[in-house]
Amino acid sequence: MNWLDASNIPFKRNEPLAKHTTFKIGGPADYFIYPRDNRQLRGILRAARRDRLPVRVIGRGSNILAADEPIKGCVIQLKGAYFAKLAVKGRRVRAGAGCSLSELVRFAAQNNLTGLEFLWGIPGSVGGALVMNAGEGRGGKAMGKFVASATIMEYNGKIRRIHSSAMRFTYRGSSLAKGIVLKAEFLLQKAQPSAIAADIRRYISRRRATPMLKFPNAGCAFRNPSRAASAGKLIEACGLKGLSVGDARVAEEHANYILNLGYASCADVRNLMRLVRDKVKLKFNLVLRPEIKIWR
Ligand code: FAD
Repeated sequence: MNWLDASNIPFKRNEPLAKHTTFKIGGPADYFIYPRDNRQLRGILRAARRDRLPVRVIGRGSNILAADEPIKGCVIQLKGAYFAKLAVKGRRVRAGAGCSLSELVRFAAQNNLTGLEFLWGIPGSVGGALVMNAGEGRGGKAMGKFVASATIMEYNGKIRRIHSSAMRFTYRGSSLAKGIVLKAEFLLQKAQPSAIAADIRRYISRRRATPMLKFPNAGCAFRNPSRAASAGKLIEACGLKGLSVGDARVAEEHANYILNLGYASCADVRNLMRLVRDKVKLKFNLVLRPEIKIWR
């Protein structure tokens, strides 16, 4: 990837991912690249393919646990004006993958459109949230339900617009993970500004009711095994709140959150997650699966 030096594509070598994840954990990425537009993105993908380098995409890093060891290849982040455009036409809102979820909800509200308020307070980007099908707990509202279409770039550089009927969304997952999400279109409903504002206030107070976590984390560590069984409740019932490995600790405030008390490594968090998983398996015969994406 030496050609990057001669290109006008912004990038950093050996960039610590700890600087780009809400967990504040992660070793250096060989190349951390911020393409300015689709053309630059395609150039990076083609060069990486030619050089046989792995490519990963990071949004706001709010759902990623990155390895302590160097991350080989390219980590791409779609930030900057080109990937953060917002537009409205009738009941449709188009949002770039790099927009934050709060920007998206605010923009929809300014245009008297309702539907996405439940995303308020989730610290992700549109791209990351679509791939994760972010939203409420299992069985609750999730982003995929509101998407009309998404535009992705495949890893061979080809751009495709995918209609919602051709997408699959599951609890914290989607078929869009196969490409790089560039933008998406959401189909929303018209509503009175006062009703939308009230809805947003409801979600804000619901978020405030969950205790503020004072330490870096990546949201829920485990997926809920079923609608009836919440991972947090199972972990709490095993008496694991406060359990620590190194500087990684199961939050006292919410047992499905793992906190980085300062110097936690990826290995600390993974060892703690293994302990938690084993105890829950032993007591309830249920296997907890990670919700956070582990990059090794
Ligand atoms: P990242 O964490 O950067 O990436 C997540 C995954 O998406 C990775 O696999 C990455 O490769 C991929 N990805 C990112 N961008 C793209 C793209 N453009 N194209 C293709 N793939 C991409 N989640 C919920 O669902 N509900 C909640 O209520 C919630 N609350 C949270 C609260 C806190 C305090 C925190 C820290 C996290 C919370 N999360 C929650 C988790 C997280 O915010 C969401 O999963 C969010 O949608 C991730 O978005 P991101 O941009 O940070 O993605």
